Amino acid sequence: MTEHGTQLAAQVTLSLVVPVFNEHDSLDAFLLRVDEVFAPQPSITLELVFINDGSTDDTLARLLERQQHDSRLRIVDLSRNFGKEAAMSAGLQIATGQIVVPIDVDLQDPPEVILQMIERWREGYEVVLAHRVSRRSDTWAKQTSAHWFYRLHNKIAEQPLPENVGDFRLMDRCVVDALLTLPESRRFMKGLFAWVGFRTTHVDYQRPERVAGQSKFNTWRLWNFALEGITSFSTEPLRVWTYIGAMVSLVSFAFAIFIVVRTLIYGIDMPGYASLMVAITFLGGLQLIGIGVLGEYLGRTYIESKRRPVFLVRRVYDPKD
Ligand code: UDP
Ligand code: MG
Repeated sequence: MTEHGTQLAAQVTLSLVVPVFNEHDSLDAFLLRVDEVFAPQPSITLELVFINDGSTDDTLARLLERQQHDSRLRIVDLSRNFGKEAAMSAGLQIATGQIVVPIDVDLQDPPEVILQMIERWREGYEVVLAHRVSRRSDTWAKQTSAHWFYRLHNKIAEQPLPENVGDFRLMDRCVVDALLTLPESRRFMKGLFAWVGFRTTHVDYQRPERVAGQSKFNTWRLWNFALEGITSFSTEPLRVWTYIGAMVSLVSFAFAIFIVVRTLIYGIDMPGYASLMVAITFLGGLQLIGIGVLGEYLGRTYIESKRRPVFLVRRVYDPKD
């Protein structure tokens, strides 16, 4: 029997970590669904950790009002919008459950899937990923860019990221504790989740559309997110320049020999202006890209070296306050 197997009928405490940023419209639907799913489950004690990520609408007010007659709610109010990654870190830090599940408030991560995850956890797994069987609810552009991102990332990063898996996953207490020991301030959570490892399995689910409101991630934000992912977990983009440089030098050396030989045989001819321009601009461009990549890493090292906190908390509202 596994370590968790002995707890089969036992009570389990589950923390849902819910980052919210201007989610006025989705809150009620989310809480309703959570109640539908967990009310018939007496063996699960629920803790709902909401992280208000600098909402400018009345999300916080609604949460506080709700907390008046729902003692399962704990609310962390961040001092401004720090982004979903930071908000999740804040939630993981204060969540107390034996098992912890980060979940979106827009019901794109259906709470009922958690019941299947808990079953797998009881079989002894420490991480249970929610695997999307299709990304039909995403746009074509998001699907293709996600696909290429994973291909590139998994080619060059030391730990591959599972594809079609988001932040929605079940984690045992030991996994959360491990995550909390990671010191970096730029937190690409998907990568950190994969990096810590542990016994992992997955359950499949269909990802539905958002219940209300709009996605907070536009193309530019996703692009930067992808850069963050790759630079956080791989130094290949830095190292590749050594090889590109070596290759270009080799080619130009061969070309030099070719010119010398041709001059010896056919005599001097007028060197081409066009080929010169192409070579100069091509190499110029290549060098700038190389410097740009260096800049990406240098910038990240610079930010990291300041050791600023990942987020700032204005106030934590616990039910009895
Ligand atoms: N979110 C957040 N801070 C942000 C952006 C998003 O806390 O700066 C939350 C948002 O409220 C939601 C979750 O992250 O609960 C997922 O956001 P969204 O649905 O916009 O992302 P998508 O599903 O489009 O990837
Ligand atoms: Mg969403």
